[in-house]
Amino acid sequence: MGARITLVQGDITTQEVDAVVNAANSGLLGGGGVDGAIHRAGGPDILAECRELRATSLPDGLPTGQAVATTAGRLPARHVIHTVGPVYAKREDRSDLLASAYRESLRVADELGARTVAFPAISAGVYGWPMDDAARIAVQTVDSTRSAVEEVRFVLFGDAAYQAFTRAVDQLG
Ligand code: ADP
Repeated sequence: MGARITLVQGDITTQEVDAVVNAANSGLLGGGGVDGAIHRAGGPDILAECRELRATSLPDGLPTGQAVATTAGRLPARHVIHTVGPVYAKREDRSDLLASAYRESLRVADELGARTVAFPAISAGVYGWPMDDAARIAVQTVDSTRSAVEEVRFVLFGDAAYQAFTRAVDQLG
């Protein structure tokens, strides 16, 4: 039902896809991890558009679980879709918000007419989500979300992330 899922180990900033998803923070003004890498590689046009969004439609920033698109600047992709995953919390189940970050990103991708979309492992870095759990939610959500996107490519940084996503795909059955 969902898009075809492919897995690659590597750097999301080099992917030639219609849209690259950024694991941003609510402020939308850059950060570390994949966010920093996307702004560094994509150049200042991405940040300029993020600032414009903050000055107009998103004065309080982008809420957790939602998504918004900008230019991809100098990246080989056509668009960047910024989404905000939840910070992991041991005593509270925030998996709905993580699923929402994937679903909303796919909805924005549909609006853009994107057919190929690259995702990082949202929330699995600084936001502290255990990789196996993050991978399971990511893969199940993409698999069960209806959209016109044909390929969802998970671009995983490092072998542990790649192995976790491989197990999650194997478990789809
Ligand atoms: P979050 O704040 O949502 O946890 P991070 O950027 O800290 O986001 O991490 C999300 C995942 O992205 C982590 O698994 C991290 O290793 C990975 N990552 C960092 N840089 C890149 C990159 N250039 N390409 C793909 N994945 C990346």
